[in-house]
Amino acid sequence: MHRHAVGVLWVLAYVLVVSSPLLFMAVRPVPPARPFLLEASVTLGFVAILMMAIQFVLIGRFQSMSAPFGIDVLLRYHRHIAVIALAFVVFHSLMLVLHDPALVAWYDPIGGTWASRTGAWALYAFILLALLSIFRQQLRLGYEAWRMSHTILGIAALASAVVHVHLAGRYISTAWKEWLIVGICVAMVGAYAYIRLLRPALLRRAPYRVTEVRPERGSVWSLALQADGHPGMRFLPGQYGYLRLASPYSLDEHPFSFSSSSQDRGRLEFAIKELGDFTNRIGEVPPGTTAFVDGPHGSFSTDLTPAPGYVFIAGGIGIAPFMSLLRTLADRRDPRPILLVYGEKRWDDVAFRDELDRLRERIALDVVYVLEQPHEGWEGETGFVTEAILRRHLPSESFERHVFICGPNPMIDAVERALVACGVPERNVTAERFALV
Ligand SMILES: Cc1cc2nc3c(=O)[nH]c(=O)nc-3n(C[C@H](O)[C@H](O)[C@H](O)COP(=O)(O)OP(=O)(O)OC[C@H]3O[C@@H](n4cnc5c(N)ncnc54)[C@H](O)[C@@H]3O)c2cc1C
Repeated sequence: MHRHAVGVLWVLAYVLVVSSPLLFMAVRPVPPARPFLLEASVTLGFVAILMMAIQFVLIGRFQSMSAPFGIDVLLRYHRHIAVIALAFVVFHSLMLVLHDPALVAWYDPIGGTWASRTGAWALYAFILLALLSIFRQQLRLGYEAWRMSHTILGIAALASAVVHVHLAGRYISTAWKEWLIVGICVAMVGAYAYIRLLRPALLRRAPYRVTEVRPERGSVWSLALQADGHPGMRFLPGQYGYLRLASPYSLDEHPFSFSSSSQDRGRLEFAIKELGDFTNRIGEVPPGTTAFVDGPHGSFSTDLTPAPGYVFIAGGIGIAPFMSLLRTLADRRDPRPILLVYGEKRWDDVAFRDELDRLRERIALDVVYVLEQPHEGWEGETGFVTEAILRRHLPSESFERHVFICGPNPMIDAVERALVACGVPERNVTAERFALV
């Protein structure tokens, strides 16, 4: 099925699940009507629970779900939905208090009844989860610690909310209504558990071996892997995989774009920039190390976006997926014109620049380098990739071409605005963000 049609089906499924509480309330047996504030509060609470449950699947790396939208759109959606669900939960509790001020006692997480306590736990777990996500950088919370806390708090909030509904709810007094809501929540958390626990077990059957760890310019390492005892995964150029070294169950797993040609079945390469705990150690990984790759993921690929030509805009290590795209297009002898605008700090940091020169002999590739700190005598573009630079280099028929952007978030935001100012339609632009949280 076409991926846009799949996208529409997912959106419909989402709306159906989230609005199912309204069905609970409308389908008999219906308890006698209560004041408006109370009914509205209960509706918000139900909708919020299902929104929270679906959050587990949204970030669950299901390729059929992420392909139509792109993982960064899904994650942005995950964040926006979280804010709306949190607002619903807060309004749910405030409306109860407005209805009956004595219910303020329900904010007590220790006292009161189990029905009120579990409601309070869900509320506080959810607020804490949101605060940790918003202020992760300021709190200097490492990614792994944040992810662990995010999962635990998410499951705790959802489980408390379901118990709260069971103890306090009137609308799920019928067994089938109760089982339906519990079933939806268990299915969503189960799908997440499948990704975290069962998929690693399946990955054990398809290990890779590290064959080469090659230094590139700009503190970047090319890590090459060879499939061990299996034909290797098929991927589209520009996609990415989650890399684990030594054990498929390791919590230390990181997403990296494939940088090799997708035509080389059985062989995978990543271009990894030293940035933190995991990436700083890549240069020391001994050849022969076992590796596991969960993938392929993502829709940042020319194969999914046919066009008469392309503009690639890379910032720093954002060049990685473009290396896969360019190497693949060269292996396929693709004749379509490509403009690569490649921003880096210094000339000496420009990874793969020698290979880009060689690729220019094999495909219709133009490269424009933009240096933030140019050396003396540099005659090319300088500073950041701006509207003025794009206007100078975008081909006149650029709007027929599809533009792919990959780099740091501020760069992607600025380039997206610049492209709009240059008249490039938004539908012709696809971005991949490496900093998702
Ligand atoms: C879709 C995608 C493709 C990527 N492709 C590449 C690539 O080709 N080459 C490359 O060098 N980098 C790539 N990255 C970024 C890379 O995943 C991070 O630089 C790396 O995980 C940092 O780990 P660390 O422990 O060295 O650094 P840390 O200091 O732990 O993390 C630095 C930052 O990286 C991000 N990060 C850390 N761990 C993870 C994780 N497990 N999952 C998601 N984000 C994480 C967080 O935003 C964190 O703040 C990609 C990221 C994404 C989301």
